Amino acid sequence: QSKRTRLIAGNWKMNNDVPAAKELAEALVEQVPASDAVEVVICPPTIDLACTSHKIAGSAIKLGAQNVYWEAKGAYTGETSCDMLKSVDATYCIIGHSERRDYFHETDEDINKKAKALMAAGITPISCCGESLEVREAGKHVEFVVDQIKKDTEGLEITDPSKYVVAYEPIWAIGTGKTATAADAQEVCGAIRATLVEVFGQETADGIRILYGGSAKPENIAGFLAEEDVDGALVGGASLVAESFAAMVEKA
Ligand code: PEP
Repeated sequence: QSKRTRLIAGNWKMNNDVPAAKELAEALVEQVPASDAVEVVICPPTIDLACTSHKIAGSAIKLGAQNVYWEAKGAYTGETSCDMLKSVDATYCIIGHSERRDYFHETDEDINKKAKALMAAGITPISCCGESLEVREAGKHVEFVVDQIKKDTEGLEITDPSKYVVAYEPIWAIGTGKTATAADAQEVCGAIRATLVEVFGQETADGIRILYGGSAKPENIAGFLAEEDVDGALVGGASLVAESFAAMVEKA
């Protein structure tokens, strides 16, 4: 784990209009501790990217988006390109969040195309995977997630493993207050690492950060981070409160 810099990423989801985003960004700049050992990323809604970028400029906090479209430009109403994200200095982008898979019918093929477009543009994908409660209860969670990883990484070329991130988010633990145990997280994150070894080789797989996400908060983050293959967290609810998010960075 020493080879990998920890990463704490906040997913604001569809919360905060422009004034609220500015206010939260300002509070985060004040409260989030700067450290070489932890990378910190916030992912506001698209409409807040420009103002948030302005507020965090010069701080240790980096900017990420929540989604992207793989085409460069043109007649794709409502979509945002990689170059548009770059123009506001976004260096990360979440892809394949379970909410996008479920509500907006995103497929592994879409997620794979988004990863390729982002990496070609020099933006680091945070590629999400994770099983539903039904799959977990059937005991098929490991094979389900391994299959997602294989499809989502197909044909990717990774030259710098710090520039591709995986987030394991069991859907039943997202926004529900129900957390996976640290051992649950390690079971799947370990299987993800093993799959990355198969796909990219040991050295590259050893450099890829794997995050846990799902009701992570200041009280439970240390337990997840103590696991060998958990290199950080993707944080939803707790990233909307500056004190909580700052406390999680502190504990990382
Ligand atoms: C998320 O959806 O990325 C997430 C982890 O949400 P929460 O922390 O609210 O469960």
